[in-house]
Amino acid sequence: KAKSTGRNTFRFYEAGMDAMVAKRTNLELDLRDALQRGDFVLHYQPVIDLASDEAVGFEALLRWQHPVRGMVSPADFIPLAEETGLITTLGAWALREACREAASWPHDLSVAVNVSAIQFQQPGLEQSVMHALSASGLPARRLELEITESVLMQDAQAVVACLHRLRGLGVRIALDDFGTGYSSLSYLRQFPFDKIKIDRSFIREIGDPDAAAIVRAVVGLGTHLGIAITAEGVETREQLDQVRSEGCTEVQGFLFSQPLPALDALRFIDVRLSSAA
Ligand code: C2E
Ligand code: MG
Ligand code: MG
Ligand code: MG
Repeated sequence: KAKSTGRNTFRFYEAGMDAMVAKRTNLELDLRDALQRGDFVLHYQPVIDLASDEAVGFEALLRWQHPVRGMVSPADFIPLAEETGLITTLGAWALREACREAASWPHDLSVAVNVSAIQFQQPGLEQSVMHALSASGLPARRLELEITESVLMQDAQAVVACLHRLRGLGVRIALDDFGTGYSSLSYLRQFPFDKIKIDRSFIREIGDPDAAAIVRAVVGLGTHLGIAITAEGVETREQLDQVRSEGCTEVQGFLFSQPLPALDALRFIDVRLSSAA
């Protein structure tokens, strides 16, 4: 009895895995197509400065408008793009597109672009950044690159050297999803980041004294090291009040806005400017 159950279970998994592999293969083919067809777009989520309560920039976030599946989440296609190496081309496209868009914004607004660990393993990241800047005319200081701790878990020395060269171009470097990786604190000694973005899992729990204490500690570190601190995923007024009182310098989150198509992002700025005046 145990044996037959075992065999059935095995068959079940085997069939399930075939289906999974088929689905992945399709998605992978689709991904290659999508780049060619131009089915990717960037949406832009405002970054609010807590000193002025004004938007100081946007984070560019990839969206895949699949002709059949509809909107595919980056959580589903970024890992696939990373495994297949397509992230290099996709990432270079996102850099060009975000810089092109940002060049048309009011001049004090910056744009943040997420860069995958895989892009650091491939040659050409610096060239992609330089090309995106020169093609768009966007001043380097208005571009911020967001990396996660996983980037530094690779060949840290090579990555840190690359980060210094990127910084040398004048772009800013932010450490994204802070607190979700391993031994986060050691990374802060390896590279002088311009910004730390506290992962939204801490902000979601910030009503809890332990989570609040962690946020406070990160803010303390940031202040000491001269690093700006962004709270990600602020959804409620209470969370906003709390991250403000803990000393975070910037916030992003659905309380202010979801990521928006480029046109709506500009409208968001206009509305806030006119309601402030
Ligand atoms: P991330 O860089 O940490 O981006 C923040 C994510 O949190 C975004 O999800 C955003 O829509 C979401 N978010 C923002 N505010 C809130 C909030 O108040 N509540 C909740 N529940 N969520 C909020 P999204 O757009 O689905 O992107 C997910 C992840 O995919 C990003 O996390 C980033 O790691 C990756 N990603 C997106 N675009 C790119 C890209 O162009 N390149 C690379 N390499 N990765 C990207
Ligand atoms: Mg990010
Ligand atoms: Mg993040
Ligand atoms: Mg994330």
